[in-house]
Amino acid sequence: MLPRISVSGQTAAWQKLLAQAINSPSELLEMLDLPADALPLGKLAGRQFALRVPRGYVARMRKGDPHDPLLRQVFPSHDEEILLPGYSADPVGDLAAMPVPGVLHKYHGRALLVTTGACAIHCRYCFRRHFPYSDANPATHDWDTALHYIASDTTINEVILSGGDPLVLPDQRLASLAQRLSGIPHLRRLRLHTRLPIVLPERVDEALLDWLQRSRLKIVMVIHANHANEIDTSVTTALSLLKRAGVTLFNQSVLLRGVNDTARILAELSERLFEVNVIPYYLHLLDKVQGASHFDIPPAQAQQLMQELRNCLPGYLVPRLVHERAGAPSKLPRY
Ligand SMILES: *Cc1c(COP(=O)(O)O)cnc(C)c1O
Ligand code: SF4
Repeated sequence: MLPRISVSGQTAAWQKLLAQAINSPSELLEMLDLPADALPLGKLAGRQFALRVPRGYVARMRKGDPHDPLLRQVFPSHDEEILLPGYSADPVGDLAAMPVPGVLHKYHGRALLVTTGACAIHCRYCFRRHFPYSDANPATHDWDTALHYIASDTTINEVILSGGDPLVLPDQRLASLAQRLSGIPHLRRLRLHTRLPIVLPERVDEALLDWLQRSRLKIVMVIHANHANEIDTSVTTALSLLKRAGVTLFNQSVLLRGVNDTARILAELSERLFEVNVIPYYLHLLDKVQGASHFDIPPAQAQQLMQELRNCLPGYLVPRLVHERAGAPSKLPRY
């Protein structure tokens, strides 16, 4: 469960927008000109993992459409209360791959830092929605334990800041973390896994660009968009600022029933991403996390979609269909 964000004493424009995110399902429906009973609300689901969506993202939803693909990603549905066998709280084996609190070291050369449990948006299908962030907080001792782990393993050449969403942290903290990472000689790349440039593009401000540009490490950013409608002009601006700052941009998506489960929608997403300088990277099969079964697409149907995508897009716009299996040495290709 992801904790709430405290914004006390912080004043960047994006932090104010973050604090103004919508957290009431009835308010959200009202903003979209939908009746209060337009969608069956999962009350328990909404208490366990609250609705959270920035207003700018709501503005990209179609009014009057209860099946809008952006709305479906954030609305706590009563379908989340369906408990099915095979769906668990830790579907990808994170807890078994955590050598020190907050460091996930599953793959050769790459270590992932769980920098925070907080996010700007709560995606209903999130595989970390049950992650015990309070036991796995690497920031507890000012990152010392995590940084010591990374510094003492010379096979690690890339650190991935993930979460939660690393970009909900203030820039002073991120800049100081990046600086300390730059001081570890065997590191070559710093990667950020973040949905902020999509859901709160105002996050890409001067303070962020400043520390990204100053690092000696190559900066890679993997953003997370699932549908072309998520990319409006504010997102376009944020992504061009990142590109101009020398950041290499990739996108990962999750294949989601009722959101992006046709070749036409996926092709349009790839085309749109390329227009804004982003290369499609991964298309994830849903991780079987409790509460997300209504988003699942069977692997055979996913493979059929991939074939259709290959038939209509240049190879470089076809994302890699992957799935994560606990204990595997890489994400597993499923094409
Ligand atoms: C996905 C993931 C990575 C990155 O994998 P790539 O294939 O390099 O994108 C690294 N560490 C963990 C724990 C991951 O889940
Ligand atoms: S932004 Fe990422 S980590 Fe946060 S809720 Fe969405 S999928 Fe989960």
